[in-house]
Amino acid sequence: MNAPMKAPCSECKGKLRRKTIRQEFERGGVKVRISGIKAWVCAQCGEIYFEPGGADRVSEAVNCLFALAVVERQSKGKLDARVS
Ligand SMILES: [Zn+2]
Repeated sequence: MNAPMKAPCSECKGKLRRKTIRQEFERGGVKVRISGIKAWVCAQCGEIYFEPGGADRVSEAVNCLFALAVVERQSKGKLDARVS
């Protein structure tokens, strides 16, 4: 699962570096943030590439956070999730 990404950035052909990133999502005024996601980031343009299947898992987690935010009526709050 730790194979290096050989392909360069498809946007600018820059080198990809493995980084731990943080992403914020907003839906209907609710913000959720997930940090500690491992991804490949282009050193030149900052384009983010997830591991195979990684993007699906992130969007799944984001959907869960939004669902939780609705249940908790945290319409003006912010939910945080950290992956470690
Ligand atoms: Zn790039």
